[in-house]
Parts: sequence; structure tokens; C-alpha cells
Amino acid sequence: MNTFSFYNPVRLHFGKEQISQLEVELPQYGHNILIVYGGGSIKKNGLYDDVMAILNKLNMNVFELSGVEPNPRVETARKGIEICKKESIDFILAIGGGSVIDCSKLIAAGAKVDEDAWNIVIKKTNVIDALPLGTILTLAATGSEMNSGSVISNEETKEKYGWGHPAVFPKFSILDPTYTFTVPKDHTVYGIVDIMSHVFEQYFHDATNTPITDEMCEGVLRTVINTAPKLIEDLENYELRETILLAGTIGLNSFLSMGSRGDWATHNIEHSVSAVYDIPHGGGLAILFPNWMRHNVSVNPERFARLATRVFNVKPEGKTVEEVALEGIDRLSEFWTSIGAPSRLSDYDIDDSQLETLVEKSMVNGPFGRFKELQAEDVRTILKMSL
Ligand code: NAP
Ligand code: FE
Repeated sequence: MNTFSFYNPVRLHFGKEQISQLEVELPQYGHNILIVYGGGSIKKNGLYDDVMAILNKLNMNVFELSGVEPNPRVETARKGIEICKKESIDFILAIGGGSVIDCSKLIAAGAKVDEDAWNIVIKKTNVIDALPLGTILTLAATGSEMNSGSVISNEETKEKYGWGHPAVFPKFSILDPTYTFTVPKDHTVYGIVDIMSHVFEQYFHDATNTPITDEMCEGVLRTVINTAPKLIEDLENYELRETILLAGTIGLNSFLSMGSRGDWATHNIEHSVSAVYDIPHGGGLAILFPNWMRHNVSVNPERFARLATRVFNVKPEGKTVEEVALEGIDRLSEFWTSIGAPSRLSDYDIDDSQLETLVEKSMVNGPFGRFKELQAEDVRTILKMSL
């Protein structure tokens, strides 16, 4: 293992009717609250009304920022920052999926500086402090509810980058599986792909002797693989939603990377693709990850073979390590296809016309990837394999 320091201060309130915890959590932060949400799903499923009833009971001064886009834009965060500064906001409550939470994190940090919010994303402005924020999660996917990361898009420049700072760890996150019942099938699938991809990014890492986290990763993956096909046929099943919801949180709250640093190259390439084409993050990952694996199998075939046998039930008898490894990757592709995920860029009508732009955008900070450092040529190959 590598040496590591672990810090995660997020208080999770998980389960039915845990929304009532707002009454305990919110009064300590002041009266002026900004609620941030997306395109309206919380109004359709009743969550907005449930939150407002509690905020009214607590006599909060409520301000609203709605319309946060999937792949949230810096422009929207700027609007939120303006409200925070003008109205002396004390607390930000993000109600939605990863996009709403990520946007809220930028608002929280941006409210404390004079510089433009995009400078935080590109790390030109140092974050020192942030407004406190909490979340009510409505979609299992990103883990943003229990981490300090945020991914923001800039529509003007067609860029999308991740940034993070301990100051934007949510103070608390409320996860009630019933509020995820209304996530449609496609976004349920994208979320499942994102969760599995976070685990893969951390399973393929830069360290040796990581038996605890290896087993944890494999356990999360097996559980998601067992649960997902049932869930997509039964979207309002509490227990299945509950399992996937916790998987999403565990998938990216740093538990799985104690003692190692994950690869994260596929996420980097996907951010370039969704920056240029504005496709769902999980859809992009479903296309790219199997090809990142095929491209890198020779780096450590034993690692891929271990994944194949322990997670995808590949029988190793009479096969070479490479054959077992490749069969595992094929099983992953088949699994994602079976639950309805895309498998080629052409599924989103993406051809090779902007291939070099995608390579350039991926390489903007130089070679990347900790399991295998990728050069421009590697990125080009993976993208071509994905067409
Ligand atoms: P999302 O973009 O937050 O939401 C996707 C769609 O699902 C939206 O249209 C949203 O509609 C809808 N939705 C959400 N909850 C719903 C519900 N309960 N019922 C019905 N519809 C619902 O999806 P996400 O996958 O959670 O977030 C994706 C973003 O997170 C990407 O930008 C990705 O790059 C980023 N990301 C962040 C991290 C991190 O650690 N911070 C990690 C991975 C990815 P409404 O807008 O109407 O609510
Ligand atoms: Fe992700």
C-alpha cells in the first residue's frame, strides 16, 4: 500500500423518511438558505413539496436556483454565486443528482472569492473556504454526496473538468431510496455504469498489496451486477434501489482507495467527450471503459484475469491468463449491453470528425493515468476502438 491520510466528514442520513433530519441539521446554520435543483424532477415526484414544508416549518428565508443542467454549466453556478453574495446566504441545500450537487459545490466555494468561478475549476484560484452545503440525493451514481469533488462544464469553450477541495464536503447528505424511484430506466442504467466505473478506476491503481480494498471493490461490483438487472425491471423496488444507492456512495467516498491511487484515465477521456458532445457521463463511460481495458490488458494481465474470475465468473481452466482477462472484458461489455447501455460512440451519432479535438482536450494537462500512463497515441487508439 501507499501511505495515506483519510478524511471524510460527511454525515449520512440513509433510509426511509430521513428527510426529517433537515429539522435537526439546518437550524445550526442560519436563516437564509439557497435550494439548488435541476430541471423539475423534484417537483414531479413530490420531493420539492416535502422540503418546502420543512423549510417553512423552520421559518427559513428560502431562495431558489433551478434549472441546473445534466453536465452542469459554470454559467449556472455563476447565477447561484450572485444570489449567495446578494442575499447573504448561510447555507446551500442541493436537491438532485450529481450535477446539482457538483454545481452547488462550485457555488459554495465561488461565494467566498471575488474571482470568476471558472478559475476555481481550472485551479487558477485557490479555494480556502466555502459556504456550508448539504444534499438530498435523488439519483445513485456519482458519489458526490460523500466526496469533495465536482465536475463542471463550460459551454463556451467546450471544456469539462473536475476540481475538488475539502471545504466542499457536504455537511450532511440525506439518502432516501424512495426519492430515487422516479429515476427513469436510462438514467438508472447510466448511474449503474458510473458506479461500476468508479470502482474500476480504483481497482486499477498504482500500488501493490491492497488485499482489503481489492476485496471491497470486487464485493461492490458483484453486488451491483447481481442487483442491476432486477432493478431495471422493477424500478420502484425499495430494496434494490437501496442497494444501488449505497453502492454509489461507497463507490466514490475514498473507502476504496485507501492505500492506493486510482487510474482515472477513462473518466478524463469521457469528460472530453461529454464536453464536446454533451452526452450523459455514464453513457460515455460504458463505451470507453471496455476499450481502455482492452488497450491496457498487457500492462498487468493477472489483474484483469483476477477481475474476470472473481467478478465475471470466467472459468480459467485450460485458458491462458490473457484469454481469461479478455473474456472478462467481453463479459463486462455484454453485461452493460444487456441492461441497455450504449457500446459505441456511433450510438450517439459521434463519428471521427472531432477525434483530434477529443485527443487534444484529453491531453490538456499532459499524460495521465496511474495504472498506465496514457500518451496522445493511446487516447487516439482508445477513441478509435470506441467509434
Ligand atoms: P444528473 O446529471 O444529476 O441527472 C441526470 C438526469 O436525471 C437529470 O435529467 C435529472 O432531472 C434526472 N433525475 C435525477 N434524479 C431524478 C429522480 N429522482 N427522478 C427523475 N429524474 C431524476 O446525473 P448524475 O449521473 O448524478 O450526474 C452526472 C454528472 O456528475 C456529470 O456531470 C458527471 O461528470 C458528474 N460526476 C461527478 C462526480 C463527483 O464525484 N463529483 C463523479 C462522477 C461523475 P432533473 O434535472 O429534472 O432533476
Ligand atoms: Fe463518474
